Amino acid sequence: MKGRKLLMIPGPIEFEPDVLRAMGMATTSHVAPDFIEVFGRSLELMREVWKSPKGQPFIVAGTGTLAMDMAAANLIEQGDRVLVISTGYFGKRFKDILDRYGAKTTILEAPVGEVVSLEAIEKELKTKQYKAVTITHVDTSTGILVDPEPIATLAGKYNTLSILDGVCSVAGEEINQDEWGLDVVLTASQKAIGVPPGLALLMASQKAMEVWKKRKTPVSNYYADWNNWLPIMSAYEERRPSYFGTPAVNLIVALETSLKIICKEGMSERVKRHQILANAFRAGIASLHLEILPKTNAIAANTLTAVYCPEGLDGAALSAKMGDSNVIIAGGLLPEIKSAYFRIGHMGSVSSNDLIAVLGALERALLELGHQIVSGKGLQAFQNELLKSN
Ligand code: PMP
Repeated sequence: MKGRKLLMIPGPIEFEPDVLRAMGMATTSHVAPDFIEVFGRSLELMREVWKSPKGQPFIVAGTGTLAMDMAAANLIEQGDRVLVISTGYFGKRFKDILDRYGAKTTILEAPVGEVVSLEAIEKELKTKQYKAVTITHVDTSTGILVDPEPIATLAGKYNTLSILDGVCSVAGEEINQDEWGLDVVLTASQKAIGVPPGLALLMASQKAMEVWKKRKTPVSNYYADWNNWLPIMSAYEERRPSYFGTPAVNLIVALETSLKIICKEGMSERVKRHQILANAFRAGIASLHLEILPKTNAIAANTLTAVYCPEGLDGAALSAKMGDSNVIIAGGLLPEIKSAYFRIGHMGSVSSNDLIAVLGALERALLELGHQIVSGKGLQAFQNELLKSN
């Protein structure tokens, strides 16, 4: 279709037509019986996606940063020690948020393209009693994927809460919240969950809820306080009307639609689709002699890929050139190397057709910008890799 744009940034993403149609419905009252049912079902479906039958879900109007804020505001008190494991820009954001609530934070920062070793994490957990450890599952600035399971196990061993920023991973990467012992897994609507921006989504373990109940001081953030939201979540699950802050009615109707699509596909199938497409995409990128930020494929995210520009090319120029072909990608985000790389999102409803369009536009943009590649090579590598996985 002439002029149709393909949105391939790491969120917001391309949304399913059914989700967009659901959003466009006539807005109802937030206490209408139909809407109460939709909200209640969305909370129940979240438990399936998070694999957390015992978790306490929260759906609140806001962004992923609010979900991070909510975890920090409710679980951390002045002077609590928190260990922040950082693989990029969003790890540092968690530290900033925690510092605001008076936490004593220690940050373990991986060099660009690497992860923090389990040995380094355990060594630090041994030195002091930490109240919580935060992990960025996929840091959207670097495309680094961290394995949260062994870190959650370590956190359990040292009686520390584990908080996972899953903004760029929930419903795209493998997560088994209850089995892995993660205390908080949070995300936002606009990424692999597949709903336009505007919802903060969070699942807290029973242990996290106990820690919150035993606080010595009140939660200092009014909007984020679970005292205000827990009765609302309980009411919707019990199909009763309630009110604290007006829910984002249309977004929640869209959320229920998207969660149903996700559950129909099945989480293991969905994760596999993300892995197969990401793997084939990385093969396409490598065949063009482009380097990705993650040092190995084992720590490369399946929801986005961050790629270094060839020598002499700037990420913004490349993104603009691809934009001329109506393929929208993102530039760099890490301040120290911002113009040296670009990012492509491939999560949610993503298909092989989308990535073929990206590789085609990328090859053309590189050639037009004077970078010598063999046209069709990236596409060929992508197709071959995809065929292998069938
Ligand atoms: N964490 C990660 C890993 C993210 O990718 C983002 C958004 N790109 C955020 C947190 C913040 O989410 P939001 O922009 O919705 O506030």
